[in-house]
Amino acid sequence: MPDSEVELALVGRSNVGKSSLLNALANRRKLAHTSKAPGATRLLNLYELDPEGSGRWLVDLPGYGYAKVGKAEQQRWQKMIEGYLTERSQLIAAVVLIDGAIGPTPLDMQTIEWLDHIGLPQRFVATKVDKVKASKSRARRRELIAALGVAASEVRWVSATTGAGIPELRGDIAKAFDDEA
Ligand code: GDP
Repeated sequence: MPDSEVELALVGRSNVGKSSLLNALANRRKLAHTSKAPGATRLLNLYELDPEGSGRWLVDLPGYGYAKVGKAEQQRWQKMIEGYLTERSQLIAAVVLIDGAIGPTPLDMQTIEWLDHIGLPQRFVATKVDKVKASKSRARRRELIAALGVAASEVRWVSATTGAGIPELRGDIAKAFDDEA
C-alpha cells in the first residue's frame, strides 16, 4: 500500500451500502463500484481526501459475509483484512457500517467483537435510513443502539439515496483526522 499519514477503514457486511455511501460522500456516481451482486469489491480500495496529497485515506475493505464466494477465497480475504486491521500503524479507527433498517446482524456483532478484541476504536454508521418508516424510526434507533451497546450520539444515521446525514458524516470523518493531527 502507498504511504499515508492517517487512515480510517470502512468495514461492513456485503450489501450494507458501502459503495453507495462512498459515492455519496465523494459526490460522485461511479467512484466506488456499486453492484447488485454483493461481494464485487475484492480489493482494498483507497480514497484520499481532498486536497490531493493530504495523506488522509479512507480504506474500503471488502464486504464480509458474501456466501457465494468459495471457502478458500473467503479465507484469503479474511487473512488480508485481518492483517491490515491488526498491523497497519496509520490506522486510527474502523468506521463500521450497519444496515439501519435491519442491523446489526449476528455477523456484524461478531465483527464488532473482534474489533473490540484487537483494540481498534470504532465509529458506527447506520445506512439506508430512508428505508425506516417515520413511525418506526424512534424504536428502530433505540433497538440498534441497544444491540450495539453504545450511546445514541455514537451512531451516525445516513442515506446514500436521499443524502440524509452525509454532510454530517463528512464532518465526522474530517474531525477524526483533525483530532489525530
Ligand atoms: P455494498 O455491497 O456494501 O457496497 O452495497 P451497495 O452500495 O452496492 O448497495 C447495496 C444495495 O443497497 C444496492 O441495491 C443499493 O442500491 C442499495 N442501497 C445502498 N444505499 C442505500 C440507501 O441509502 N437507501 C436505500 N434505500 N438503498 C440503498
